[in-house]
Amino acid sequence: MKIDRLPSNDRTNGWSAILPKRTPNAALEGHVAADWVVLGAGYAGLAAARRLAENRPDETVALIDAGEAGENASGRNSGFAIDLPHNVGSSLDELEGSHRFMRLARFAIDHLQETVEANGIACEWSLDGKYHTAVSPRGVKEVLEPFAKELEALGEPFEWVDKEALGPKLGSPHFTAAIYTPGGALMNPAALTRGLADSLPDNVTLYENSPVTEATFENGVQLTSGAGSIRAPRMIMSANGYAEQFGFFPKRFMHLAAHASLTRQLTEAERDAYGVEEPWGMTPANAFAGITMRYTNDHRIVVRQGLEYCPSQIVTPTQQAEIKRRHKRLFDVRFPMLPDVEMEHTWSGVVCLSRNSAPGFGQLRSNVWSAVCQNAVGVTKGTFGGILAADMATERENPLIEDMQSLGEPNPLPPRPFLDIGVRARFAWELFANRHEA
Ligand SMILES: Cc1cc2nc3c(=O)[nH]c(=O)nc-3n(C[C@H](O)[C@H](O)[C@H](O)COP(=O)(O)OP(=O)(O)OC[C@H]3O[C@@H](n4cnc5c(N)ncnc54)[C@H](O)[C@@H]3O)c2cc1C
Repeated sequence: MKIDRLPSNDRTNGWSAILPKRTPNAALEGHVAADWVVLGAGYAGLAAARRLAENRPDETVALIDAGEAGENASGRNSGFAIDLPHNVGSSLDELEGSHRFMRLARFAIDHLQETVEANGIACEWSLDGKYHTAVSPRGVKEVLEPFAKELEALGEPFEWVDKEALGPKLGSPHFTAAIYTPGGALMNPAALTRGLADSLPDNVTLYENSPVTEATFENGVQLTSGAGSIRAPRMIMSANGYAEQFGFFPKRFMHLAAHASLTRQLTEAERDAYGVEEPWGMTPANAFAGITMRYTNDHRIVVRQGLEYCPSQIVTPTQQAEIKRRHKRLFDVRFPMLPDVEMEHTWSGVVCLSRNSAPGFGQLRSNVWSAVCQNAVGVTKGTFGGILAADMATERENPLIEDMQSLGEPNPLPPRPFLDIGVRARFAWELFANRHEA
């Protein structure tokens, strides 16, 4: 099978631009044999390869990526390891579903934290919690108040933060209220994925800058990249939305582009004007209209705004220039005391969603398992998906596999162009209906 569509790295990712230069591992050359091959080195593939290597210390694992490890969505995200579900609901079934998700997410966060600590990964990992914020009184009533009730029903700790208390914490007068939850982690996601890639066990070989252009799954797996190839009896597919290029999950995935910007570091005078010293992270009451933001340890502000349907999986430089201008306008409204602070880096990444928010997890063929489609929460979902796919493939007992399977399977999507029309109309409606949260 020939692979038609490959990911590309436009080298705009701000998180990696602010890190020291890294030398990637060598690309695939010649004909290589391994006991396992893992395709895709984002959170899912990095977790799967590490776990396979631990479960089978005497076997070899080849991990292959089209670009540099983590430079697709994983190292480009906003750096929130999320431990709470976005939509809780109040029925017993929904609450049980939320508990399952939290078990999985906290398992992933613990795993990442242990790996960060054991390998001294310098990625600014911190367990700072986050603020879920509403801009308008309507957002408070429609989103924050029900969310507070749901957290109470789940028995989860939280703090209600009103406008007066929130202003000094975030340094912005823009928000009406927030719910602070202490779980989850924040980090520089590119530093984390690099650190994970550079600390893989000795029985894993990582091939970077090696786009797989041909694959066969008969009599074992064979992946071809340039003049090289890897042959292995078994594979874990962790190429996220690109899994469909390999014939898996046909017509199940929607591709969305998400956009982010990182300011330059604030000067001493700007830090005085801003008046906040402690780093923070905030997510919006409405993911379509609102903005995810962070204040980093090195005194930059992150703006993550805009979620667009992107079936081509490509964002052009012209679109990015407009996104950069938009992010600056939105920044100025929120931080009027910082008029001269520019967006130093603006980038986009492509995320994969299914219609019913179910992951592409499990055994796909006798010799292929998968951990794809993280529904835009890939730091935790990719990590636990990768670990559990490896456990399933190596028959390591893990009660969390049942939790994972309870998340369901991706539902079929309508054919294009009906899908395109439907998704675009839904997104436009979400933006319009929630414009009070912009
Ligand atoms: C701007 C932005 C902000 C986000 N914020 C957050 C956040 O704060 N928290 C959160 O949890 N999630 C966030 N997300 C989503 C999160 O980044 C993704 O869900 C997650 O990175 C997916 O991980 P993955 O390992 O499944 O896929 P990916 O990171 O996409 O990795 C798949 C890998 O497969 C490789 N690949 C594909 N095709 C081939 C091929 N033919 N040959 C070889 N390799 C191939 C790619 O190069 C890629 O490296 C955000 C995403 C974006 C874009």
